[in-house]
Amino acid sequence: MHSFMMFKLLALIALGLMVELVGAASSSVTRTNGTGQGNNLHDRSLNAIYGGDRTTWPLGKIPYCYASIAARAQLKHHIDSAIQIWMTALGGPASAVTAHGLSLTEVVDDQGQPIYCFFNDYQSYEHPGSWHTAIWKHVLAIHLQGGGGARSTLGYFEQGAAGRHALVSGLDAPNIIQITLAHELGHVFGLGHEHQRNDRWMDYMAQAQAANPGPLGFISKDFLIWPAPQGLLTAYDVTSIMHYDSRTAASPDCSSLAPHRCPLLHRNGGYIYKNRVPSAKDVTGIRAMYPWQG
Ligand SMILES: [Zn+2]
Repeated sequence: MHSFMMFKLLALIALGLMVELVGAASSSVTRTNGTGQGNNLHDRSLNAIYGGDRTTWPLGKIPYCYASIAARAQLKHHIDSAIQIWMTALGGPASAVTAHGLSLTEVVDDQGQPIYCFFNDYQSYEHPGSWHTAIWKHVLAIHLQGGGGARSTLGYFEQGAAGRHALVSGLDAPNIIQITLAHELGHVFGLGHEHQRNDRWMDYMAQAQAANPGPLGFISKDFLIWPAPQGLLTAYDVTSIMHYDSRTAASPDCSSLAPHRCPLLHRNGGYIYKNRVPSAKDVTGIRAMYPWQG
């Protein structure tokens, strides 16, 4: 169980380099035009989440492909479940009634068969080979990795190389992988970590550095307050699916019976349980970011 990799906040592909966004003041990707095809709403939505070099997905449409036959065979069922978790929380697919315009669609050919993101020279996320010439470069690529855990890019980048939007997932236990992937999809949509908000101290505190610095290792920065600017759509929400639970990146001796050994706790010292579905405020945020536009 690679628990230290759980929910490792996103990485992104920039000029062939993977860049961890967590703890970085900004990504190495710079953009002169972050308007998301000129729609100011995208900029506001973006700023309501994090930073200035990424936007929400234009028109709420997120096309995706699987990086390989193996990735589709192993992950499709779980990705479908994760998408369904969000759509259930949102009240159903994009429509005037559900008041959101978010849709995810796998790229297919004229016969309705899936097109894989890469040609047969694909090896891994780190060595992806050649992007399929029939697929737009901005399409989200879903990769399978060894071990557990998952990571993903945050929001949408107008400019950049093919494969710049990515979700990389291992195979966690069946009862949690769809929750992990729903969390990662939240990042894809543009949501950051709820526990990294600058107002989290109102109700909770992170003990990432103090409690278990050894076991936490490099992921400890995922507990730190996200660098400014932070534009926030809704009030701090410990029930968000984008909030870590007390077990995230914890050493084995952290449990609900021994919360003092866990890196992230309630202000009163209580244990934070895993959120399995998007919260009401998550839904409010997504509706603000991806309004139904008819
Ligand atoms: Zn995360």
